Amino acid sequence: MGEAYATLMSRMKEIETVSQIQGLLGWDQEVMMPPKAAPLRAEQMAWLSRTSHSMMVESTMGEVLDAAEAEGAGDEIAAGNLRLIRDAYDKATKKPVDFVERFARHKSKSIVSWTEAREKDDFSIFRDDLAEMIELNRELAGYLGYEDNPYDALLDIYESGLCVSQVDPLFAGLREALVPLIAAVGDCEAPDMSWVTSNNWPEAAQAQLSHEISSAIGFDFDAGRRDKSTHPFCGGSNPDDVRWTTRYDEAEPFGSLYGSLHETGHGLYEQGRPRHLDFQPAGHADGLGVHESQSRLWENQVGRSLAFSEWAIPHWSEYFPSNMNGVTGEMLWRSVNLVAPSLIRVEADEATYNLHIMIRYEIEKQLINGDLDVDDLPDAWDDMYEKFLGIRSPNRKQGVLQDVHWSMGAFGYFPTYTLGNLYSAQLLVAARADLENDETLEEMWARGEFEPLLQWMRDKVHARGSILSPAELVEEATGQAPTPQPFIDYLRAKIESLYGVAA
Ligand code: ZN
Repeated sequence: MGEAYATLMSRMKEIETVSQIQGLLGWDQEVMMPPKAAPLRAEQMAWLSRTSHSMMVESTMGEVLDAAEAEGAGDEIAAGNLRLIRDAYDKATKKPVDFVERFARHKSKSIVSWTEAREKDDFSIFRDDLAEMIELNRELAGYLGYEDNPYDALLDIYESGLCVSQVDPLFAGLREALVPLIAAVGDCEAPDMSWVTSNNWPEAAQAQLSHEISSAIGFDFDAGRRDKSTHPFCGGSNPDDVRWTTRYDEAEPFGSLYGSLHETGHGLYEQGRPRHLDFQPAGHADGLGVHESQSRLWENQVGRSLAFSEWAIPHWSEYFPSNMNGVTGEMLWRSVNLVAPSLIRVEADEATYNLHIMIRYEIEKQLINGDLDVDDLPDAWDDMYEKFLGIRSPNRKQGVLQDVHWSMGAFGYFPTYTLGNLYSAQLLVAARADLENDETLEEMWARGEFEPLLQWMRDKVHARGSILSPAELVEEATGQAPTPQPFIDYLRAKIESLYGVAA
């Protein structure tokens, strides 16, 4: 590789080091920090952000990057690095400094008004700030640039290369399949949850179970930690130091355990990143959608299967001997797969979840393109819930005011959640084709054998870092461009086996 490329990579290592420190301080803030340290921590974090931003936009950076591109990429790793650095550099330099400051200032302001509006259940308190936030996002799309649709520029922030023409058919396919399926489940009898609700689930035992299961599916606790925080997340600095968190509710154990499986999935991805690409952009995980595919894989596709429930029963019994008396793997499986339309996205089940996302996607697209007025938004929200999920919010709090994202200016983020579900189903189908010779993955899971599936993900996804774009990575691993069909097939089969209905 040429001299300019070498200079560029050593600069990227410095920038990455700053971001690793940010990650650790962010973890400390959520998990350990005493409350009085908050203002001090805000100063420290702001300094680190400013420092890494100025390293990125520093006057000679553009020249070094141009020169490295002119040298040409010798291999796919260098090509990946150059593509990612160009993208980050353009995104950092295309926005005028005064815009970045206006955006940050407005974000602080609108988070406050959103919080108050939600508390008081009064959309009008947030209305003006939201309108301005939409304006700012249109302005942002203008700086970042787009071909057909300003919303494309915003989607691209969170998933490189993502655009409306890709996402529209994915959601259309989902909508067509899921709406009738969920309506059919609505007429079925709900599973018996009394063994869950009539018991208390001590936090210490939940923590032990969560640790044991995370370890059993392959998380390396010598290169990571599990802690407790209000908002579960996975962070850390590098594959040798991956930290995830969970929260506990003694009234029900599923939030914590399935949250643990979810964060373990993110953690496994981080621990599996290619070590020869440490400190290089191409060595990072490949965007939010692929990251979410790994968390959803272990949480849902594996963790909510009948085979997994049967394998897990003795572990549950070890930590909750009296609660689990008489509970079978099938009872556990039915309980963790309750399907019912609800108003709140974060509490939604695997089947209805993507309709919550589809609604937000359609609304964001209309807001950014000027097809929906802010004043019409709250009712448009409720109308879409009624149309697609058959339920209507009795207030704004459980309706349009439930998510923090828009107050933070994050338009284009939501679709990555659904991409994760779609990718996970598509990857699992491809893994089955390679791994199921003598027996099914379910037969392996029932014995607690998760290694073959993890190793497949390591080879096809984790070890590939972000050398390819997310859509290219999925295509390379599965032989097919991203499609909603495997996910639809998976849900149909699952709902048929749970409820005996087909649509
Ligand atoms: Zn996640």
